[in-house]
Amino acid sequence: MVYLLQGALEIAAHHFSTAQRCPVSGARTGHLETTHGTIRTPVFVPVGSQATVKSLTPDDLHGIGFQVLLANAYHLYLRPGVEIVREAGGLHEFMAWDRALLTDSGGFQVFSLASLRTIDDEGVTFRSHIDGSEHRLTPEKSVQIQEGLGADIIMVLDDVAAGGSEGARLRQALDRTHRWAERCLSAKQRNDQLMFAIVQGGGDTELRKMSARTLGTLDFPGYAVGGLSVGEPKEVMYRVLRETVPILPIDRPRYLMGVGSPEDIVEAVWCGIDMFDCVLPTRVARNGAVYTRDGRYSVKHSSLKSEWAAIDPECACYTCRTFSSAYLHHLFKCDELLAYRLATIHNLSFFQRLMQDIGTAIDVGRFESFRDEFRQRYRCVDEAERLSQKRGSSVLRTKTTTNECRSRQCDLRHNLHS
Ligand SMILES: [Zn+2]
Repeated sequence: MVYLLQGALEIAAHHFSTAQRCPVSGARTGHLETTHGTIRTPVFVPVGSQATVKSLTPDDLHGIGFQVLLANAYHLYLRPGVEIVREAGGLHEFMAWDRALLTDSGGFQVFSLASLRTIDDEGVTFRSHIDGSEHRLTPEKSVQIQEGLGADIIMVLDDVAAGGSEGARLRQALDRTHRWAERCLSAKQRNDQLMFAIVQGGGDTELRKMSARTLGTLDFPGYAVGGLSVGEPKEVMYRVLRETVPILPIDRPRYLMGVGSPEDIVEAVWCGIDMFDCVLPTRVARNGAVYTRDGRYSVKHSSLKSEWAAIDPECACYTCRTFSSAYLHHLFKCDELLAYRLATIHNLSFFQRLMQDIGTAIDVGRFESFRDEFRQRYRCVDEAERLSQKRGSSVLRTKTTTNECRSRQCDLRHNLHS
């Protein structure tokens, strides 16, 4: 491996290496070197938008085994502000996390959270969702913010077309995304951060391929696929991944932003994706929904009132080693704070173990059968419910108000104990 000396910082010129490849799919295992340690891929990155993974401490996240967390440049820029983070000594010091960090550019949040935004070729003007104050984000400003925060992996600013966009708007967003990617590269000053480009193009596979080819020539140390899992049917996402990922440089990590559910992760790894982030395991945990290899169910269901087994008898996490389903059911019924923490520990442990099992299956050459077995056993959340979650609805509101959902939870419990 070749090393470049940049002042006191030493970073690898080839940050990513592939360990094993699946003989029948695009899946691979690898290692990504960062300033704060090596990330083994495929990897799931928990979301800590406000420089915290809700309800957990860095010790909890260490204990589960996470190597990298995501923080949100948009949120941290607005509050507490980059200067405060800089005063703390950077984001790692501020949140007391000594392993790798990734920040997004703020683009996705500006396009989805902020109001009164106006986009032009130079950048985007928006009003804060907190106090309505006006801000201007350009590719250069986004890099400046992320360099001020100091994460190990930073993202380019992209123009995110609304889900379902077509034709001229999609093309305009794509051209802008490519120009902005070049401007982000030019604006970059720190040499201890890896900047990833973001492939866009909506559900249009031709535009996606064009985006992958264009950005692929720019020699970024990593490539993300953005703008997916925003409400489109799963088959569209899988088709885009199948067509796009093989075009991305094979020797760079590939990151699928904002995805996903366990079944999406297995499928995207099959297509050659190495990194994932998603709020799903932590968000649904706070609503009482927990993951098992059979699927997801609600611990709030009345059938668990006197269930003395762990919420997932196959899991060895702190929650499952220590507490019964009945106890978690009780905590959620009483709105006790510990409920959120225990369910979050379990769900993140489930995702971490899923990634480890995927990696092991690839390493020993049996990922195809792993995928078959996973798909046979794992019962996906139904499409209508998935889309309602994308619109920000409460999981439990949809999970517990239909008989269909109730019977599915009972089935899951039955499967767990049979
Ligand atoms: Zn557990």
